[in-house]
Parts: sequence; structure tokens; C-alpha cells
Amino acid sequence: MPTPTAATQLLRTRIGKVCVAITGTTAVEMIEKASTVVKETPFLEFRLDYLDKPLNAIPKLKQFFADNTAATGIATCRREENGGKFTGTLAAEMEILCKAAVSGFHIVDVELESAEALKKGELQKLRDTGVALIISHHDFTATKDLDKIYERMAPFQPDLYKIVPTAKNLSDNVTLMRFMERMRDEANIIGICMGDAGIISRVLGLRAGSAFTFAAATPGEETGPGQIAARTLIETYRIDQVDAATKVYGVAGNPIRSSLSPIMMNTAFRRETVNAVYLALQTAKVSDLLKLVQEMPIQGLSVTMPHKQEIMAHLEKTDPLSAKIGACNTVLRAQDGKLYGFNTDVAGIIGPLEKRMSLRGAKALVLGAGGAARAAVFGLRDKGADVFILNRTADTAQKLARQSGSKTIKKEAVAKTEFDVIINATPIGMAGQKAAPLLEGKDLNTKLVFDLVYNPLETPLIRLARQQSIPFITGVEMFVQQGARQFEIWTGKPAPEEEMLRVVIHSLRQQAEAAASESSQEPDKTAGTKRKKAS
Ligand code: NAP
Repeated sequence: MPTPTAATQLLRTRIGKVCVAITGTTAVEMIEKASTVVKETPFLEFRLDYLDKPLNAIPKLKQFFADNTAATGIATCRREENGGKFTGTLAAEMEILCKAAVSGFHIVDVELESAEALKKGELQKLRDTGVALIISHHDFTATKDLDKIYERMAPFQPDLYKIVPTAKNLSDNVTLMRFMERMRDEANIIGICMGDAGIISRVLGLRAGSAFTFAAATPGEETGPGQIAARTLIETYRIDQVDAATKVYGVAGNPIRSSLSPIMMNTAFRRETVNAVYLALQTAKVSDLLKLVQEMPIQGLSVTMPHKQEIMAHLEKTDPLSAKIGACNTVLRAQDGKLYGFNTDVAGIIGPLEKRMSLRGAKALVLGAGGAARAAVFGLRDKGADVFILNRTADTAQKLARQSGSKTIKKEAVAKTEFDVIINATPIGMAGQKAAPLLEGKDLNTKLVFDLVYNPLETPLIRLARQQSIPFITGVEMFVQQGARQFEIWTGKPAPEEEMLRVVIHSLRQQAEAAASESSQEPDKTAGTKRKKAS
């Protein structure tokens, strides 16, 4: 363990687990945000490089620290070439940081490249103020040799080493976390992987030895790719409670950024006081996912597009329905360490239907012949329903019909046939999908409509059903049901379905509001210049 400096000792008593990045173009804007954030999280990073006039802003920020003595502040003025927004010289950066150091800030962040470019003694001038020093390094392209970066930093003997590579895949998180575990007794390291694939490191990094992690003040104010909002990190991921005993679960897919599974499953774990955390695992390759599973004690996975089929070959055993469907959306690591597969999409479709009707002999129309349609068709057939399939590509529909003992149907015949239920298992109606509806009002000759699409809450098909007073089931119900069954497979406890449903509906409404406000601001969006962001 290195000999702690006075600054390091001070830090031990002042730094929290989460540091919230505060941005703004004026001191007033920053202080307004900081004053809100500080009530919940007193550890703040002021991104001085976002300010129009950083030097002029410092007296006001000094006043903020005088008024908020419990607040701990990091001053960062990252230059453009290092991924920040500051366009001034290195000398100007140092002038700003020196002034910040005597104006109430407790820590200053100097990029490794800046430190290396400084003349001898200049960094010492900054340290003589008594401020603690972070030397940071950001790699926006990849996760390379982290030991080499550390070796470059070590001569500056900073109080904290901040090492922020980009995760190109899930395994890069393992590289960073293994590095931090090795260095735990050597130095105070802050380690985070940027990017969608780096979320694991943002949540589990503390457990691997990171001194703290960074968060955005609110969604939309991220200062680095993949950064999570403070409230989400604290309330959804319960980062304060993640410890060595916390079980890790996740949803693997590509893309996974807007998945609602993390908010739903973490809410369920919290509600049932299960010491577990559920992460978004962005990955393009099943091999990458398997490597992560080998390296980390992941207890269970939700598997989503496009990996539901490919994962099957890597499981010890699957349930009979998964084998028939050829797809699995749930993986459990059992006590023997082996991976077992289940398909809860089937239960997500069949459960809601059985609440409303008996499926034996029921006449069902399934639109689509992809993964969700296969779950619907095999699930319905398993319950004795008479199933008809309508799909854009007739061959695929015929193949599925043959495999499952169902029939295909032509579009023209739909209006003339009476169904007990029509199920949409295509993406038509999904937010952002422009394709024309498959069915019109006159085609809904059915007692029930089930749209598996869950975003938006009211799809065009559901609207049609509502207009014709046909009872309907929304995709949200399937989403919650498939998740609830996963929860039960993993924990052996009944899932808090109502709470899961509440949080999913709330999130979908929030997403819809955000999309509406974004589209109303569309012309302004193109006016700004795009810049790289660093964590
Ligand atoms: P998939 O495997 O890609 O299958 C998509 C199906 O939709 C295919 O049969 C495809 O027909 C058809 N299709 C796609 N675009 C079309 C278009 N423009 N016009 C007509 N048909 C079109 O996808 P999936 O996994 O089955 O998912 C389908 C939808 O189900 C998703 O978009 C999602 O909204 C919903 N889903 C919901 C849940 C939930 O929990 N609520 C779970 C899973 C899926 P071709 O064979 O001609 O390509």
C-alpha cells in the first residue's frame, strides 16, 4: 500500500461511492444543478471544460462550496484532444485548475497527456495547494494494456489513478476488473469501461476495487458513453448495496441499450429483498457472452435478439419447449455450475391467454413466423389450440406450420374466418416501425386480440381492437410475465408481478414523453456541434 498523503487521507473521509458529473455552460446553470444533486449525492465532479468562461465561473463555484460544506468537489477541465470540451492551451487548463484548487475544490483531475506535457515542477505547484490529484486516462477506442497506462501514471504519484478505456465487448470489463483486483493494495484506482458494453464495470467496478464510480446528473446529461444517471445507479442498481455476496444476472442482446428488463428485474429484486443485480449485457457475439459467463459468477441470463437460437448449442440441457422452438430466452447457472435453458416467452404468451380463455380447441391466428411467433405457435399447440399462421414470407410460415402441426392462412381468408384470438408476433406497430398494418378493422373477426409489441403501450392494432370493443392483451403483459417466470426460475420465489408491471408502464410513459419532447425540439438539435465526451 502506498504511503497516504494528507490529501489521500482527507479523501477517505469525504469521497462517496458515486460521483455525479455536473455540466453547464454558465456557473449559474452548474450551481443550480449541483444544488439539486448535492441533496442526495454530495460528491460532485464539476466539468469546467463545459463552461463558456471557466476562469470567470470559479468565484461563484467557491461560494457554492462555502454554502455546501458537506459537498466534495472534483475540478475537471479536460481538453478537446483528450475527449473534453476545453479548447484552450495546457497553460490555460493549469491556470483554471490551480484557481479551482484554492477555491474550495478538494480534488483536481489532470489528464495523463497533460501531466506528461507539463514542465517539471508545474504539477507540484498544483499539489502544493493541498488539493488531491487524479491523473486520468481515457481511451475512446478500446481496452488496451492497462498496466502500461498505470506505469505511465505512477511517476506522478497521484492520489487517485483514473483509468477509463472503452469496452468493445463484454470481456473488456473482465480485463479492467481483473486489473483493479490486482492493483487493489497498490493504489487508489478508479476504473470504468465506457460504451454500451461497459455497463458491467459501472455497476460492479466498486466490488472489483474501484475507489468510486461516475454518474450523470440526469438521463440525457451523460458526460461519457454508457454513463448511467445517478438515481438509476443508486435506486435501480442499488450500487450502495452491491457486495461480494451480490448475485449477478443480466440481459444479453444486441442492441440492448433501451431494454426495460434491467429496470423491471432490478425492481423485482429490490422488492423481494434479493441480494442480486441485473445488468444490460450489450454483445454482438454469443462467444463473448460465454467468455464473460466463464470469467464471472453470473447466476442467470435473459437472452434476447439475436442470440436466442445460438445460445442453445452452449447449454447443458434445455426444457422440452425450448428444444421444440429452437430458441431459449432464459439461462440458469445451476449449483453444478452448468448452464440450463428455458423459454419463458411461451409462458409470457400462454399465461395471459389462459387467464381469459380455455385454449383447448381454441382457434388462434398468429401473425409472423419468427422467434416470438414460434413461441406462440408451439405454446398454443401444446395446449391443444387450432393454430393458423400468416407471415410475410410464405415459406417460413409453411415450415413452422409443418413443424408444429398448424395451418397457414392467406390474408384474404382472415376476414372470413372466426378466431378466438389473433396474436401479432411481428414488429409491426412498434415505435419507430414504419411498415403498414397487416390487418384492417374488418379482419378482426375475433374474440380477443393480443399484440406482443409492447412499445408503444397502445399499438395501432390495440387501437383497432379498442375501437371495435374487442378485448385485448398488450405486449406489456407478455413482457412482465416472461420476466416474472425468469425471476422465479432464478430465485425460487414468486415474482412481484404488480410492481414489475407498474415500473414497466411508468418507464414506457417516460420514454414516450421524452421522445415527444425530443421531436418537438428537432430543429434545435441540428444546430449544436457534436463533441466527444469523456466519463
Ligand atoms: P423476428 O424473429 O425477427 O420475427 C419477425 C417476424 O415478423 C417475421 O415473421 C417477419 O416476417 C415478420 N415481419 C417483420 N417485419 C415485417 C413487415 N414489415 N411486414 C410484415 N411482416 C414483418 O422477431 P421476434 O423475436 O419474433 O419478435 C417479433 C416482435 O414481437 C418484436 O418486434 C417484439 O415487438 C415482439 N416481442 C415482444 C415480446 C414481449 O415480451 N412482449 C417478446 C419478444 C418479442 P418474415 O419471415 O417475412 O421476415
